Amino acid sequence: MSPVLLEVNDLKKHFPLRGSLLRPGGLRVYAVDGVSFRIDKAETLALVGESGCGKSTVGRAILRLFDITAGQVVLDGRRIDDMPAGSLRPLRRRMQVVFQDPLSSLNPRMRVRDLLAEPIRNFALAKSTADMEARIDLLLEKVRLPREAKTRWPHEFSGGQRQRIAIARALAAEPDLVVCDEAVSALDVSVKAQIVNLLQDLQREFGLALLFISHDLAIVEHMTHRVAVMYLGKIVELAPKKSIFAAPKHPYTEALLSAVPTPEPGARRRRIILKGDVPSPINPPKGCRFHTRCPYAFDRCRAEEPELRAMRDGHFVACHLHDLPAAQNPLAATGPH
Ligand code: SF4
Repeated sequence: MSPVLLEVNDLKKHFPLRGSLLRPGGLRVYAVDGVSFRIDKAETLALVGESGCGKSTVGRAILRLFDITAGQVVLDGRRIDDMPAGSLRPLRRRMQVVFQDPLSSLNPRMRVRDLLAEPIRNFALAKSTADMEARIDLLLEKVRLPREAKTRWPHEFSGGQRQRIAIARALAAEPDLVVCDEAVSALDVSVKAQIVNLLQDLQREFGLALLFISHDLAIVEHMTHRVAVMYLGKIVELAPKKSIFAAPKHPYTEALLSAVPTPEPGARRRRIILKGDVPSPINPPKGCRFHTRCPYAFDRCRAEEPELRAMRDGHFVACHLHDLPAAQNPLAATGPH
């Protein structure tokens, strides 16, 4: 059996700008512009990048929250991006989501019991009333909330506890994949760590695949298997976690990593401050999209867009530096700074 759960092939999502919807050649936001990756069963893939890089759009496209512009999304060998809306029900059970703000994703007029019962009922998972209650109790235990939480309302909980309820609700559907869209970004540092540990434990116990979308590389270091780095609608680097943290091969990843504290006491990374803002996704730069901010840009970068190419050991990178002789490539063998 193939270990691949989800394949995303050359995914594009372009949003027409308001007012240019019906005009041929009208302006478009190139939110996601040719993204490919796979997630294996029981694997965590972190999708990271600055705000506006398109990572949340990728998550929502996979979940079929809107139609895509081009490309393919394949779940367990079956194409799902072109499925008619009426056939999406089984798919919705298999792919769940945990958003950043549980207060807006949990209905404030439903008690925790009903919030957890809803997906169980929708997908006809309980065999009896007793089974329903047992499932709800087990879900609360798995996310480390007391049984008494059942009778309470979402607003009675702290942010971290609410996120536990949102995770329990996602688990209630018995999914294969959970998309965590900035799921810990709004939490305090210590609570963040608790929720990340919880997600890891649940992943191991239930064999879940996680797409962990985050702007924060520091948080993904402890919980992911592989990392995909996005910049302006494209993946610029994708690699196993150890490989990307030890030796980033894209200048953008190098800059993001330079802000992450190292685990060794006293060790420091050389901080790289990127100049300028992220360019507009309405009119992305020609050539390499990162060239306007890249400290190593050279002539070819302004003219030719680099492809995402395989390096060694499952490491992929889109950067012309790796066509230069090693002596001229500052990222040929980058280790911790
Ligand atoms: Fe920088 Fe050029 Fe590599 Fe783009 S292709 S990241 S501009 S060196």
